[in-house]
Amino acid sequence: MVRDRYFDNAATTPLDPRVLQEMMPFLEDGFGNAHSIHAHGQRAIAAVEQARERVAMLLGAEDPAQVTFTSGATEANNWVLANFSEGAVGPFEHSAILEPARRSGLQILANCGVQICPPDSPLPFLSVMSANNELGTLWHPQQFRASAEVLHSDMTQSVGKLPTDLEGIDYASLSAHKFYGPKGIGALYTAEQPLPPLLVGGDQENGLRAGTLNVSAIVGLGAAAAVALDTMEEDARHALEMRAAVVEGLEGVADWRVNGGEEVSPYVLSISFLGIEGESLVVELDRAGYAISSGAACSSRSAEPSHVLTSLGLDPEWLRGTVRVSFGRFNTLHASEELARVLLTSVEKLRTMGRRAGKRAT
Ligand code: PMP
Repeated sequence: MVRDRYFDNAATTPLDPRVLQEMMPFLEDGFGNAHSIHAHGQRAIAAVEQARERVAMLLGAEDPAQVTFTSGATEANNWVLANFSEGAVGPFEHSAILEPARRSGLQILANCGVQICPPDSPLPFLSVMSANNELGTLWHPQQFRASAEVLHSDMTQSVGKLPTDLEGIDYASLSAHKFYGPKGIGALYTAEQPLPPLLVGGDQENGLRAGTLNVSAIVGLGAAAAVALDTMEEDARHALEMRAAVVEGLEGVADWRVNGGEEVSPYVLSISFLGIEGESLVVELDRAGYAISSGAACSSRSAEPSHVLTSLGLDPEWLRGTVRVSFGRFNTLHASEELARVLLTSVEKLRTMGRRAGKRAT
């Protein structure tokens, strides 16, 4: 079983077989265009609306009409941020918030440790994520309710994994592939005020998002939402147990630390080891058959240190040796204990190699 050694679930999760099973008919005979009048179209639109209900249920939204399907969280974030030119975003946001924010001329709030410093005066717009993809740190976007006229949250790392609280949130983004659904599908939740569309050229999604609906993917998102609602408690408990096992398994190692602060997602473990390169550790683990990450997958191919880790003020020595282990439904406690053992021996091996290279150089 390969999935049990895949510890990069914050980058993406494997498709749940129950999700695949629900999607398959819509990749076969159920190919209709959801906006066609005939029976093929009717079958497709019925499945789309059922998926919308399931997503609304997972979010605890009042009305399925508050859910608009998008190609993922990146699109949902871009859609929201394209509509606001004054305001700010949090300091720990994903680049799918930071880059559209720069385009729109939004400010970036400062960080107070792993907390977000509140703005001096209320802002027209603010976007704060619910869970961080690199650290797992959890925030409560609603604590900024009084600081912003319009409040958006990128909930990509918490939806489907932890309970969603939409109280006081105007807009929220989510993505199916972070909770065992397919890639390339997500949604924007809108409390009341629909935003002018980002994509125009068709009247799908009530004219809010043009383009032929990706029915099988939408069905997959709906199925993933239904499974998540059923298994969330068990999944979170399982993740917490595995996370604790890895931390415990590393106790014999010298000079390491856990990042992310007190309130962290059970699904993410960010750890730094002094004196090694995170990338080398990722490669060592890959050789042993384990997938972990040296940061956010989206930025781990760039040589720049992550803005999230740098803003925490981590010493460059520690920063370099940072890796992320992210847990999911298909990992096992046994594989997590094994992972800790492989981490331990790999860190020791890399440190010895580093010491030898250091000696040769002097
Ligand atoms: N926001 C966060 C916090 C994420 O972790 C990701 C995925 N790495 C995204 C947005 C982008 O989501 P998607 O892949 O659906 O575009």
